[in-house]
Parts: sequence; C-alpha cells; structure tokens
Amino acid sequence: MLTTAEAREAILAAMPDFPADAVLLDAANERVLRQVVRAERDQPPFHRVMMDGIALSFRDFSRGRREFPVQATQAAGDPVLALQPGNCIEIMTGASLPENADCIVPVERISIKNRIAFIENDYAAKSGQFIHPRASDHAAGTDLLAPGKRISPMDIAIIASCGLTEVEVSSLPVIRVISTGNELVSPGTPIEPHQVRLSNGPAIQAMLRERGYAHCDHDHLLDDRDELRRRIGVHLADADVLILSGGVSMGKADFVPGVLAELGVNVVFHKISQRPGKPMWFGIGPNREAVFALPGNPVSALVCCRQYVIAALEAASAATPRPPEFAVLASDVTFEPDLTCFQPVRLVSSAGGQVLAMPVLTNTSGDFTALSASDGYVELAREQSHFPAGTPVFLHRWRSV
Ligand code: AMP
Ligand code: MG
Repeated sequence: MLTTAEAREAILAAMPDFPADAVLLDAANERVLRQVVRAERDQPPFHRVMMDGIALSFRDFSRGRREFPVQATQAAGDPVLALQPGNCIEIMTGASLPENADCIVPVERISIKNRIAFIENDYAAKSGQFIHPRASDHAAGTDLLAPGKRISPMDIAIIASCGLTEVEVSSLPVIRVISTGNELVSPGTPIEPHQVRLSNGPAIQAMLRERGYAHCDHDHLLDDRDELRRRIGVHLADADVLILSGGVSMGKADFVPGVLAELGVNVVFHKISQRPGKPMWFGIGPNREAVFALPGNPVSALVCCRQYVIAALEAASAATPRPPEFAVLASDVTFEPDLTCFQPVRLVSSAGGQVLAMPVLTNTSGDFTALSASDGYVELAREQSHFPAGTPVFLHRWRSV
C-alpha cells in the first residue's frame, strides 16, 4: 500500500499537461498563465505629476521667487507643454511633467490671483518633489509575470497595462464527476427509507468549480457491471478527467476497479495508507485520461478530492505549486492506526500570531455534516500516534483562499 506522499508523487508523475490556449483578457482572471508578460513601456511611461498644483523650475524657487505668472494649464492626457523661464504651469495629477519644470508645488500651498500664483512664504520646496520619474517602477521589456501564476485582478491590471487583449493560459480540462451506487437518489426525487441522498457529486463539482475547473458535468450510475462499462466508456471518450465516487471497496457491488481495467485504464495504485480514504484508486486511460476513483464515504470522497484530485489538476495546469501551509494543534490528538490521519479542523488565529487548528469531532467516519464547521484538515504523520497540543502540522484548507 502506498504512503500518502508516494500516492501524490505517483499521480503527479502520471498526469498529462493540459495544453495552453489563448483567452480574452475579460476571461483570464483565475486562469493559470502560460506565457511571460513583458512591460510594453516604461512605468511610469513619462515623468508623472503626483499632485494637483503648479509646475515650476526649482532654480527660480531656490533664488527666492514666490510669485509665478500662470503660463497655461496642463491636465492628465494633455500634450506636454514647455515652461517659459520665470513662469509656472497649472498642473493636474497624472499629467506628464512640462519641459523645463522639475518641481511641483501642491495646490494647497498656493493661491492664484489675476493669473499669478503665490506660494506660501514659509513653504519649503525640494527639487524633483511630487514627480514620479519615468521608468522608476520598471523599464520597457521587464518580465512582469511568469508562467505558472494564477491570474489575479492585480495581474489583470498588469496585462492590460502591457496592451494585451488576450493571454495564453492553461486550457480547462473536460471533467466528468460520476457517482456510483444503487442506494443513491438525487435531490428533488422521491426517496425510500432504505435509500441515501446523492451528495458527493454536487459537493465535488462545487469544489472543482470554486477552483476554476468549470467544465465538470455529473452522472449517476448504478452498481451494474454492464451499465458501468458502457457509461464509463462514453465518459472516457468525451472527457480528460474522470472522478468517480463509490464502488472501490471490497463489497460484492464494488465493480469500479474491474470495469476500469476492462476499459483499458491502467491502474497506477489502489489504496493509500490513510484515513479517511484508504480505498482510493487511480489510473490512466488509453488516451491519457486521468481516472480518480474515490471511496463513496462522503468524508473520504471530499478529503481525497481536495488532497489528490485538486493537486493533480493544478500540476497538469502547470500552476506554480503553493508553499505548504502549517498550523499548530490546539489540543491533543491520539490516532493509533498505522495510517496517515487527515483530521478535520477549525482554524483560529491566536493573539501571538499562530494559526491554531482545533480538531472537529466527527460522529462516525461518514459524518459529513460535521465538516461544514471545519476550514480544512491537518495531516498527522503515520509514524506517530500521540500529537500533543502545540505540534506543528501540515494544513490543507478546503477553500481555495
Ligand atoms: P461505497 O464506497 O460505494 O461502498 O460507499 C460507501 C458509503 O458512502 C455508502 O454508505 C454510500 O451510501 C455512501 N455514498 C456513496 N456514494 C455517495 C454519494 N455520491 N453521495 C452520498 N453518499 C454516498
Ligand atoms: Mg457503493
């Protein structure tokens, strides 16, 4: 049986690379960038005025002059004027510094009468003040964004400032989420006492969509070998990634691994030394489709989706890996089995600046209602059974932020 680290490595090694694709700027947020974005121009592109006021020559000011005839007015977007000796130019924030000017005096420190600007007597100006020099942020041609970045609204500003109308990003895979089980009944359909509401499919879809994987349709299949073979065959032909839940344990109706093998999906592993989620199965289809078969237990399905499926999709999207996150256990935890434990936790930040992980107790391994109170889960090493309060542990958050 693979360890959690081995399972993760095996998945990452087997995943294909999703191809790159150009998208329009207004569809680029949250996508993974696949190109370098270089500065189109210097930033600022000109000596940018930072205050409303007057532009003058510091030489005149330093020689004691405090009255300046207003030669003209120049606002942001106006062509650049040339300052005449002894004059000032009324200037607005965002304008390009007039030629021969090297000092801005803010409007609050002047008064203007009959087109003469008077500077307050005790005002001390400095050469170059309130001027944001050309190229002081970066020069034209500077690499501003690197491939692998998940595009944020701040990055959209950079891409737009570079004059680009579209960018290369990782294409979104076509994903099929497939719930298996005779007992499952979808919301909105009448249900018998011995049946169970189908909840994994919608939850897995929500987790994927939250991370930007928008193309994830759902199907429900019965525990019937022929139906499984036929429908999974269709999904393999139509999709890049299959995420099944249920039917991977040792029960008589657990046909999923056998059917996948019949369809030419090569098993990479079956079972991971972890709880929850030990029966997880992973394989690669005949056309490099990634096939994740998660246990049906809702807690297991969600942990396995977060832990392995999301990591695999991020790697195949060529997203730069996020650094690991840590938290400190807020109370003692004991976990005896020789398995890695994924313990759901609620996070609280301490006055000392630590992220404290408070274990969320679940009634049984299938108690998924308790997960709603959790922010994620911590990873408790297999080699240890007693984890005292204060132990630093790996943290995995449910949500993308
Ligand atoms: P299985 O892995 O198929 O043996 O399923 C384990 C348990 O998870 C069973 O109690 C199932 O009823 C439950 N289960 C399986 N699939 C789902 C699902 N899609 N939604 C909710 N519960 C499920
Ligand atoms: Mg089942």
